[in-house]
Amino acid sequence: MSDWSDHLQYKYKIQKNLRLTKYFAAPIVITFLIIIGLLANEFIQNIERDTKRNILSSLNSVVNANLDAVSMHIYNLQEFTERFQNESELRTLVNEQLKVHATSPSNIKGSEALKKIQQYFEKYDAFKGLGFFIIAPDNTSIASRRLVNIGTKNLIAIQKPALLKKVWEGETVVVPPILSDIPLKDHNHHLVDNPPTMFLVTPIFEQGRIIAALSFRINTIRDFSQFTENTRFQPYSDSYIFDKRGYLLNNTRHHDQIHSAAGRQTSEPLSLHDPQATTLTLMAGLATQGTNGNNMEGYSNIIGTSVFGSWVWSDKLEIGFAAETEKEKALETYYMSRRWVIALYIFTVIVTLGSLLSLVISSNRTFNILHTFNNELEKNIEDKTKDLSKANLSLQKAKESAELANTAKSTFLSNMSHELRTPLNAVLGFTQIIKTDENTPNDQFEIIEEIESAGKILLKLIDEILDLSKIELGNLPLNTEIVNAIETLESSISMIKPLADNKNITISASLPETAIVKADSLRLHQIFVNLLSNAIKYNNENGKVNIDASIDNNKLDIKFSDNGFGIDAKQLSSIYEPFSRMHPDHTDIEGTGIGLAITRQLVEQQNGVISVKSELGKGSTFTITFPCFQEDKLNSPTDNLIAFSDYKKNKPDNKLNKTILLVEDNETNIKLCSRMLKPLEYVNLIVMKTAEDGLDYLHDNPVDLVLMDINLPGMTGFQALKEIRKSNNIKNTPVIAVTANAMKEDVEQGLNAGFEDYISKPIDMNSFLSSIEFFLNSKNKE
Ligand code: ADP
Repeated sequence: MSDWSDHLQYKYKIQKNLRLTKYFAAPIVITFLIIIGLLANEFIQNIERDTKRNILSSLNSVVNANLDAVSMHIYNLQEFTERFQNESELRTLVNEQLKVHATSPSNIKGSEALKKIQQYFEKYDAFKGLGFFIIAPDNTSIASRRLVNIGTKNLIAIQKPALLKKVWEGETVVVPPILSDIPLKDHNHHLVDNPPTMFLVTPIFEQGRIIAALSFRINTIRDFSQFTENTRFQPYSDSYIFDKRGYLLNNTRHHDQIHSAAGRQTSEPLSLHDPQATTLTLMAGLATQGTNGNNMEGYSNIIGTSVFGSWVWSDKLEIGFAAETEKEKALETYYMSRRWVIALYIFTVIVTLGSLLSLVISSNRTFNILHTFNNELEKNIEDKTKDLSKANLSLQKAKESAELANTAKSTFLSNMSHELRTPLNAVLGFTQIIKTDENTPNDQFEIIEEIESAGKILLKLIDEILDLSKIELGNLPLNTEIVNAIETLESSISMIKPLADNKNITISASLPETAIVKADSLRLHQIFVNLLSNAIKYNNENGKVNIDASIDNNKLDIKFSDNGFGIDAKQLSSIYEPFSRMHPDHTDIEGTGIGLAITRQLVEQQNGVISVKSELGKGSTFTITFPCFQEDKLNSPTDNLIAFSDYKKNKPDNKLNKTILLVEDNETNIKLCSRMLKPLEYVNLIVMKTAEDGLDYLHDNPVDLVLMDINLPGMTGFQALKEIRKSNNIKNTPVIAVTANAMKEDVEQGLNAGFEDYISKPIDMNSFLSSIEFFLNSKNKE
């Protein structure tokens, strides 16, 4: 049974887990994937942020490096230029040329002084291919590498007069990009019309007086491009140096592309224009307005590619510096990482969802297997339960029929007891009468005694069979009370004494004064008498019986020992079985084989133990042990014995006639009763055969006493009693039950119903007469 319930519990556990897996796995997995997704997204964003931060820092470095390089370059050039301020050779030549300018301006281009000045500067490699100007105080260019501008107003004086004015005041100035007056070659050696150009201008002194100004053209394209080339940090990054109008002061790798795409002429100076718009690029637009900044979102560069950029504007030089890098290429590493992370995430999603799916599928499969298993299990249980209930049903039926049989047996025994007692009553009753009759001849006396003895044995047998059947049915009532077991034992010994005397058996006893036990004293008496009578019965002439009682550890031990026949060891185990007799050779010994069975039951029902030791031919010892009742629990003992003999002292007044009504249907019993009542000469006996007749009689003729049989035809003795108690004029009449219903509960029931006494058949003449005399005497006492 526990196996099945274990299986079931296990099954329910698994089913629960499977259900949990089914219903909770999906939300858990989805939550897990969302969390992983969020983390991956955060990771990607971090990479993007870091990548952009690195790019911006590189762009800023490039911008600053270019700004520093250009500043340093101009500073170096400035130093170099100022070295010519007081060069005597140059001063002499300039003075000569100034004279030509002053005296014959038309000869200025062909003067000897101009040639010498041009030769003077030829030796400075640094200015090869560039140009210089000697500017007269009237702002006319009086000398230059090329003849074309000589004799005209110098372009610095035209485009930046304020700066030139500063030179005449003694300062060396850097002229920010202005438009060149002549075409200049770009890095591809193409001539560019009016490209932006820069100058360094310093005064030429003569004894502290400024006689002219010397200007050197800065070769921006050549020099600045070197810097920007050096600071390029990625093949797809660009650096721009540009002027206020957005014209480039350095080369760009996009040069050719811009020209061909825009269809521009190569002679045009290159500017930072957005090819998709007519304006400057976002970066150049902001920078030329004098703002520094960066853009990491992406904007169109000069060829329309999306770029990140950083820029600064130098107010002093009026030059902008910018670094740009192509957005898509710069972010390539980031895109790569992003692709990996996304791929990894997708992989995780696929694996997780796959696992979930397989989990659900396997759960379903397990669930199905379990379901099948469960069905089989339940079928098994059902089958077993059916078998069990079948077995139960047959058990129940068997129990019911056993109970029926028992009840039938009990009823049978009770009826039999009644039926046997009635004739026995007659036998024993008449025997007693004959015995007391003086006319009985002596020779018949012995026969009568035989009849009486046989009758008594029969009565004992009936009592024992009744007791045994009650014990077997488990309904032997015990009237437990506080008893001095020693007193009971002593009375049992004295009762059994004549039996011992018959065989000349000596009884010796060693007894304490008292041993208080809780027991039914009559049953205790029965136990003692049975053991004692056995010790005598199964003993030899002149044998010995010893009773040894002692109290130890609050227990009363009584040993009944004899030196009689003893019992074969093999038979000892079945000694308490009903109807087992161990001495088949001694058929003359009276007995039924029931005594010990009853004895053991009675001992055990009263919390005692019985044991036996015996040796064939040597004798036996039966020991019974009872728990002693503690002294402190002992209240004043109740004496609930009804001793009728006490009433004998109060004999009724013989002179008064008394009338007794006997209600009895059995002729023999009527005869018996009337014979038994003979000694009470003053009694007048009226007999009625039914309760109804009895009642009728009573109403008209109240009597002193009623003797009432119980089992009567028609109204029973109990019903008759009720009627008597209801009728005013006769209700106080004493009614004694005289019946063959001799079982203890019958007696109790009778007394409870209100009978004054309960005399069971076979009637013991002495107690019968005592009881009658008592009630006749006390009848009118109220
Ligand atoms: P009964 O005496 O009526 O036969 P019991 O149940 O009292 O029935 O005893 C059963 C049997 O046990 C007896 O027939 C007898 O053989 C044996 N027995 C009982 N007591 C003794 C004893 N003291 N010594 C020897 N045998 C005994």
